[in-house]
Amino acid sequence: MSKPLNAVITGSTSGIGLGVATAFAAEGYNVTLNGFGDAGEIEGIRSGLEDKYGVKVLYNGADMTKPEEIRELIAETQTAFGQVDVLVNNAGIQHVSPIEDFPEGKWDAIIAINLSSSFHTIKAAFGGMKARGHGRIINIASAHGLVASPFKSAYVAAKHGIVGLTKTVALEGAEHGVTCNAICPGYVKTPLVEAQIPDTAKARNMTEEDVVQKVILEAQPTKKFVTVEQVGALAVFLASDNAASITGAAYQIDGGWVAK
Ligand code: NAD
Repeated sequence: MSKPLNAVITGSTSGIGLGVATAFAAEGYNVTLNGFGDAGEIEGIRSGLEDKYGVKVLYNGADMTKPEEIRELIAETQTAFGQVDVLVNNAGIQHVSPIEDFPEGKWDAIIAINLSSSFHTIKAAFGGMKARGHGRIINIASAHGLVASPFKSAYVAAKHGIVGLTKTVALEGAEHGVTCNAICPGYVKTPLVEAQIPDTAKARNMTEEDVVQKVILEAQPTKKFVTVEQVGALAVFLASDNAASITGAAYQIDGGWVAK
């Protein structure tokens, strides 16, 4: 495909999403950023990517629990850049709690942000991709899209759900040049992981240091965190022409976690 292509990355003001957005900008894609945070910091990220990589970078603060705002995120990108070539569904939150204490509101929010938002973005972007005979949809699932851990009922349900959605969209796009794949990272040291350490310590009656060593890094045979740069590089590959025959896949990038 001739460049520049345009990529939308949800939840890209922090962590993995920011790493993926940076990787696409570095490849010459125009990028739409999305996510919450301090307005000044977000503007710094947006203009920093534009200046460093000479691409156009848009920010849209759509709340991924709100379908109308999600549709507007895709529409604004189409208006600004002409079309959405790559859609990365990344926004996500976590809550760690035994199921009998799991707050209903947290369940609803996790299903909305980590699963349903991807239905809404895909629904809004898919028609254009199909009509042009080219599109790349990449869903940031998790090792928890393939295996479970205790105390993460909503997250594991949402991530297994998105792996299923990935397969369905792959089948619907297969004859139209539209691929859909999931990336399943193990632990990446981002604010999302750092925030769950105290709750996991409480739920498992452990110290926070023990959570890092005996729960988090114990899950990964490499005993190392996955990096946002590694996830970004895989996403860029899945968006490339060489990945045209890869669709419906769930790529583990988890230091061997799911192989155990
Ligand atoms: P993070 O907290 O650093 O980033 C989450 C991003 O989502 C932020 O930009 C935040 O503003 C945005 N966001 C949250 N709620 C939103 C909403 N309602 N609307 C719009 N944006 C919203 O987290 P992260 O670790 O980078 O996680 C990114 C994705 O990667 C998530 O889907 C997560 O489940 C997945 N993941 C993370 C890990 C890990 O170890 N960090 C592992 C596997 C999968």
